[in-house]
Order: sequence, then structure tokens, then C-alpha cells
Amino acid sequence: MTKSKCGIKVTTEQHKYTILKDIWGFTSFRSQQSEIVDHVLHGKDSLIIMPTGGGKSLCFQLPALIFKGLTVVISPLIALMNDQVTALKLSGVKVAAFHSNMNRNEQMDVERELLGGQIKLLYVSPERANSSGFPEFLHKLNISLFAIDEAHCVSIWGNDFRPDYVMLNVLRDKFSHVPFIALTATADAATQLDICRQLHLKNPEIFVSSFERKNIFTEARPAEQKYKQVAEFLHKVKGQSGIIYCLSRKETEKLSLKLAQAGFNCDFYHAGMSADDRKRVQKDFQDDKIQFICATIAFGMGIDKSNIRWIIHYSMPKNLEGYYQEIGRAGRDGSPAKALLFYSWGDYIMLKRFIDESQANEEFKTVQYAKLERMWEFASANECRTNVVLNYFGEFRNEPCRHCDNCLNPPKSKDATITAQKALSAVIRCNENVGMNLLIDVLRGSFRAEVREAGLDKIKTFGAGKDISFINWKIYITQLINKGFLRIDYTDGFKIKSTPLTRTVLFEDVKVQLVDLTYTDLVTEAPKPKQKKVILEDELMQKLKEWRTELARQKQVPSYVIFSDKVFENIVATKPLTRSDLIQVEGIGTVKMQHYGEDILAIVQGYISSQDLIKNVQGKTYLDTYQLYKQGLSPSDIAQKRGISETTVYSHLAYLYAKDEPVDIFQFVNENEIAKVKNAWQKANKVMTLSVIAEHLISPIEFHKIRLALAVVVKRNMNNDL
Ligand code: ADP
Ligand code: MG
Repeated sequence: MTKSKCGIKVTTEQHKYTILKDIWGFTSFRSQQSEIVDHVLHGKDSLIIMPTGGGKSLCFQLPALIFKGLTVVISPLIALMNDQVTALKLSGVKVAAFHSNMNRNEQMDVERELLGGQIKLLYVSPERANSSGFPEFLHKLNISLFAIDEAHCVSIWGNDFRPDYVMLNVLRDKFSHVPFIALTATADAATQLDICRQLHLKNPEIFVSSFERKNIFTEARPAEQKYKQVAEFLHKVKGQSGIIYCLSRKETEKLSLKLAQAGFNCDFYHAGMSADDRKRVQKDFQDDKIQFICATIAFGMGIDKSNIRWIIHYSMPKNLEGYYQEIGRAGRDGSPAKALLFYSWGDYIMLKRFIDESQANEEFKTVQYAKLERMWEFASANECRTNVVLNYFGEFRNEPCRHCDNCLNPPKSKDATITAQKALSAVIRCNENVGMNLLIDVLRGSFRAEVREAGLDKIKTFGAGKDISFINWKIYITQLINKGFLRIDYTDGFKIKSTPLTRTVLFEDVKVQLVDLTYTDLVTEAPKPKQKKVILEDELMQKLKEWRTELARQKQVPSYVIFSDKVFENIVATKPLTRSDLIQVEGIGTVKMQHYGEDILAIVQGYISSQDLIKNVQGKTYLDTYQLYKQGLSPSDIAQKRGISETTVYSHLAYLYAKDEPVDIFQFVNENEIAKVKNAWQKANKVMTLSVIAEHLISPIEFHKIRLALAVVVKRNMNNDL
């Protein structure tokens, strides 16, 4: 044991694991969680960069439960805060929150509880944390740790800058002896340093988890006949949960309506809807009643749905942070998922205009332009897309990821010098005075008014590129821009202009390689018909979810804070029939076991009992015996009824007893017999073979009693060992 700077004993490894199992029901830490917890417990500052769904909360919640004093958590959204508070409460943790939606009385109640020293975690909105008198109030308490969640909000380089966050450094300065942990899923290398600087973190260690999501297949396609492509895609992912991200509220509504009319089970979601409508849509999606949602980026924060199988970006997002966070909502259960991005030059121009027209200051705009540029590079990239993202986040890498379209189906480059010459020469002949679309119209020989009025139908390259489709021209010109042969003049209406390299292609025989973008369809097969076993397992899942929905309704909390889908999947996979089986399930902690164990076992047991269709369900035979036992039948009656031997019935009862089920074993074997069996078992070097134990007995005992006694002996022995 070591002593940390805050005078708190750093507990042993075992304590960490005990809390992990008791509160969360987990048996192991993910990636760097354990290291981070140790670092925090040692009283040091840290910045945690971990992808969405990576498990950041545990990095401060677990230390909070080990520290003697209070952990203050700053969280920017009331919804996020409420979810975490409710989830912790359900796991038996003393936790409270301060935010602007509370009245004075509620606040005073929380203050009283805090002064009483009962609370382990306090969630606070940044506005509240900065309000006058708050630091003074905190000084009356014993503070062990500050956690700043969604810390990218502190940086102008981040994705969602909030001035209130910057003022948090006042807290850092006032509580210089208390460790700070800042956490975010979205921070490139520049933002990381800025967060540390803005929050005045003291020699922080930066823990960067890998951002690679190996189970997500990424693909980007030019937005040609987008609706048709989406509809085709949706037919292939029938029944699988997903999200279609749109750029505007109006687009979510329009698209959802059109898809619903085409027979898809979908709805829309955006921040302009009433709180009730938003809640309903989110919940129906969560409960698998709606297959997919057409949404703005307002949809996503706080969604803990583990079985989202695909994400579509119907238009290009404004930066890679947003894009990556949104696709990160898919495949949280670790099973394969798909992210499909549609991009177009029109999206780019529109996003660019949004920045131009925003009220932000110039510095902020410069950052936003740069981010948009990176997003466009990602969308139009010909190389590994994962690397583009990872390099962006400062995780430098150059090996192919093997889970993006460009890795799985590398675009083939070809000599396209003549095509390039046509484009470059058209730019010059148009006097560098046209934007992308008009340039392409000229190349393709369009007689539309704008072309004729400018006299562009008279120039030499007019119609020189008829044989190439509009979208392909866009792709080629984008590549020419990325290669430096052309440039876009943002200061002059996005007109395409020449560069010093242009003449090398036109006059100096420099060859140009371009790639054709044919898209890889990563979803190749329609889902196979489900096997009977899978259908039945779906039924069990459904039963568990119905139970959860009802409980959530009674408690007025979101379903996913009670149990995540992942935990139910673990239950469905293992089908625990007894208490001791259930507590082994990943995600079942001690407090939840106490509260909900009975209900869950009853559902699983009921399900198994009704499954005569499946043979050899593990544990079914025990359960059948158990059901008759609970009805009051004697072992011989059970044996007769089931057509099995009485010895087998006893062995079932011994098994159930060993698994902590309330079987009154002492009806069938007394303490005297147990003592004798214990003696023999010890003499026989604790072997479990009944015949060997029988040989060591001083006087004979019936076999079935030896079995029952042995169950008692072993259980008592185990409990003594603990
Ligand atoms: P983040 O804040 O990084 O987006 P969360 O802290 O909300 O992620 O965790 C995401 C999910 O991962 C939650 O459902 C959480 O219970 C689960 N999780 C976290 N740590 C572990 C772990 N060690 N083992 C299993 N599941 C975990
Ligand atoms: Mg989080």
C-alpha cells in the first residue's frame, strides 16, 4: 500500500476489482481504465482521450468510490448528467446533482446531504460550478477529486466550445491540492494540449486510447442518386437498428416521411421537436420499436443502445470529430457495424457558407474552415480512411486498417493525363472565372443559359469532356485540387483557379494519375433466415426488455440505465438458472442482483421451462426437478413423474443447493451424517468421487446422502476460505 498526495490510502488491486464487480458487475477493466484509476488514486492530474463508448465514466466513478471525500463531476448536459446519476443510484451509490432545473428547496436538500458527508459523487453543470459562492460552498466539504467530462468544450479547437468551461480553471486554482481528471472522446492533438492549458492542469498525464473501432466498416460514396442508394442499403439491413444523420431538421422530416411511405419502420428526431416527442422517439428506438431514426446530430448524446448496426451520413458532417463520434454509436456491443457517408461538393459549399455567415470571431472561423477541409479530404480520400482519422487525432499510423472501402477494394489509379489537360485548359479558357459546377457544364457541353450568356459555349474546350459523367468530373477535379494542379479560391466565390503546377501538365509533359471511384458495397448479403434457436433467443431478449420497460416506467427512468442491452445479451447467451450463475454474468453487480435477481431468474427459468422445442438446453433438467420440488413433491415422486432415478433427483437438489437456490437439503441429510462425510472427504484428500469418499467412511451412508452432505461440506469449506 502506498500513500497518495491527498492522504488517501491507495487500496489494493483487489479492492478495485471488488468495487468493479459489486457496482458495475464487470470482472475486468477495459484498455487503460485500470492504469487511469491508479493514476487518479495517486492524486495526479490527467486528461483521458477515449472514444465514445470506451468507458470513460468508470475512470472517475471508481476512484470516487474509493476516495474518502467527495468527487465533483462537471457535465455539460442535464440529460447526460441525469443518466449517470440514475444509473449510479440504481447500483447503490450515493450521488447527487446540481443544475439549473432545480428549485431552491431541492438545492437546499442536496446541500444538506453534502454537508452530512454522505454523498460520494456530485454532478454539477458548468454554469452552476461557476456561480458565485459555489467554490466557497465546496470549501466546506472534503473534496477528493474533480472530473471534467466532455472536456473538449473548454477549447476553441474542440467541437463544441462553451465559454462556461474555460472558467473552470478558477476551481482548479482554488483547489490546487485536489486532483483533476478531464475526459473527452473528441480532441485532436492540438485540442488536447489546449484542454490542459485552459484547465490549468498540473503536469497532466495524457492517456490516449486507440480510436480505432475495428468492428466498424467505413465507406464513403459520392452522393449520386443518394435516395436510391439509401433505399437499396436499407433493404439489405432489414430489421437492424440504425441512424441516418441529416444536416437539417427539415431534411430529417422529409427523408423519414419518404422512407416511411416506402414501407420502412422509421421516425425523425431533431432539437426543434417538443421534449415529449423527442423522448418518445428515443425510447421507441431504444426499445427496438422503431428500426431507424432520421436525425440531426442532436440525436445521440446519451444513447446507450448497444445494437446499432449501421450509421448513414446523408450529407457530409462539418468535421471529423463529429463524424467519428456519430459513427461511434454503432457496434458498441463489439459485433460488426457499418458506417456509410455520402458526400458532395454541394455539402462542402453549404458548410463553408454556414461558417462564413456565422457570428463567430475570425480565429474561430479559421479553425472551423481547417476542420471542414480535413473532413473533405477524408470523404474524397483514396487511401485508408481509418488512417486519415487516426492521424487526425494524433495516433499516427500508416498500416492499412482492412475495414474501410479503400483498404478492401483499393481504388485503381490510371493515366488520366488527357482528362486532366482538358480540365486544366478549360479553367484557363474560362479565364479562371467559374466555379466547379459551371466548369463541368462547359466540359460536358451543356447549353444551359448560364453557359451561353457567358459565351462559354464558344471556347475551344466546350464539350471536350462529354464522355465523362458529371459526378465523375467532380471526383476528378477534386483529385486535381488535392494534387495541387488546381485550387479553389475561397475569397472569390469558390472559383477554380490555376496553380504553379498547372502549366507542368499543359506544357511540360507531366503525367497525371487519377482514380475512378467505384464504390465497394460492404453489405453484400441480405440477412440469412434465422435459425430456430436464434428466434427463441430473440423471444427471451424480448421478454427481458418488456420487463425492463415496465420497470423503467414505474421508476420513471430510461430503460438503458437499468440494464444495457449488452447485459441482456450476456444473459441470453448464458441463460443463468440460479443465483450463483446470474452473479457471474458480466454487468450484474451486487446491488442490482439483490433488487432484480429474482425477476430475471424467473424470466429465464420460465423461458427455459417453456422451451420443449429445444433439446439439451443446459440446465433444463435441473430446472424441471426444481419446479416440481417447489410444488412440494418428494424426491421419489419427482423421480417417478420425470421418469428418472431418485439418485438423479438428489444430485439435482445437491446441484441447486450448491448454486445458492433455497433448497432445504437438511430434510434429507442430518448434521451427524454431514460430519462423517466431511471427515471421510478430508481423509480422501478432498476428492469429489463419491465411491472414494464412501470407502473412507467409518460406517456406511447411503450414496445419495453422501452427495447431499458433500455439497454442504464443500460450500461451508468455500465460505470459510473467503
Ligand atoms: P464513454 O463515456 O467513454 O462514452 P461510458 O463510460 O458511458 O463510455 O461507457 C460505455 C459503456 O461501456 C457502458 O455501457 C459501460 O457500462 C460499458 N463499460 C465501461 N467499462 C466497462 C468494463 N470494464 N467492462 C465492460 N463494460 C464496460
Ligand atoms: Mg461519457
